Amino acid sequence: MTPVAVGLFVETSDGPRLLGSKCATCDTPYFPKAAICNNPNCNGSNLEDAQFGPRGTLWGYTVQYYPPPPPAKYDEPYQPYAIGLVDMVEGLRVLTRISTHAPEAVNVGADVELVIEKLYTDPQGNDVSTFKFREVRE
Ligand SMILES: [Zn+2]
Repeated sequence: MTPVAVGLFVETSDGPRLLGSKCATCDTPYFPKAAICNNPNCNGSNLEDAQFGPRGTLWGYTVQYYPPPPPAKYDEPYQPYAIGLVDMVEGLRVLTRISTHAPEAVNVGADVELVIEKLYTDPQGNDVSTFKFREVRE
């Protein structure tokens, strides 16, 4: 599959990871990658590449019932999906799609894990992937 954007996520031998950055001075994590540290108590200016994931907790979510406006991409016919905020163990809060077949039955507070899944098929017939989180079932 083709990633929806370059430099957003990567498949490693340990599974998928988000690609972000971390301040070398105060350790504040950023996703996507940041150019400067926004911590008001930090004078650091050196950000290092960092990988985050795969675990977090679902802070909250909503269901996108209607097709989002461009440039959002989706396959026809449009299927409602859940979009949520995940608190990752590294201290990031990430806006993300939730991988589920039952968008109205997602559990706030659930343990979630990062996955790379298809987002849509482009006009040339290529599957385009993005990152999502799904509930961990153990
Ligand atoms: Zn900093």
